[in-house]
Amino acid sequence: MINLILFGPPGSGKGTQASKLVDKYSFLHISTGDLFRTEIGNNTPLGLEAKSYMDKGQLVPDSVTIGMLRNKVEANPDVKGYIFDGFPRTIPQCEALDELLAGRNDEISMLLMLDVPDDEIVSRLLNRGKTSGRADDLNEEVIRNRIAVYEEQTSPVFDYYAAKGRAKKINGLGSIDDIFERLSKEVDSLEK
Ligand code: ADP
Repeated sequence: MINLILFGPPGSGKGTQASKLVDKYSFLHISTGDLFRTEIGNNTPLGLEAKSYMDKGQLVPDSVTIGMLRNKVEANPDVKGYIFDGFPRTIPQCEALDELLAGRNDEISMLLMLDVPDDEIVSRLLNRGKTSGRADDLNEEVIRNRIAVYEEQTSPVFDYYAAKGRAKKINGLGSIDDIFERLSKEVDSLEK
């Protein structure tokens, strides 16, 4: 099995690239952001709790996020591999994910980070806000907060997998297809 973490700051293109990778390699895409938005859309208690954090650009607490992720993985055991998008975002989430996979004699194959500079990210997110309908994309202060949270709490996730020799930076600038080609090359090298 190939299990990927698609990593990078908010607005780095993880969702776009994940759906292309799914088309090409038939992995199961698990996006914690999408899972939270579905819960919010269904007005569930979990959704209501998550929304209070997401609207401020803060992380949803680990206990909530990890439980939701575990349910999703356990409900889909027979897949070719997983693409985790937006998870893990903290070190406790890394540890929980490794433990969950280890329980199935499995592991993360590689973390691929889409490397995009800050200024580009703010402009992409403000742009996306015009059409995405996402409250957290509309307000520059919330966007800046998401970037700060990424730098403080989430970027250590890269180092966590780099220490295991399982993290790579991919240039996240260029056309969607160019970036996809860079990612595909890495996935193909894992398949060999
Ligand atoms: P983006 O990366 O573009 O900001 P996401 O859709 O991945 O968007 O996440 C949106 C919001 O959902 C985050 O700002 C955060 O509040 C919450 N969230 C998503 N994934 C996690 C996670 N793994 N841990 C905690 N909060 C999360």
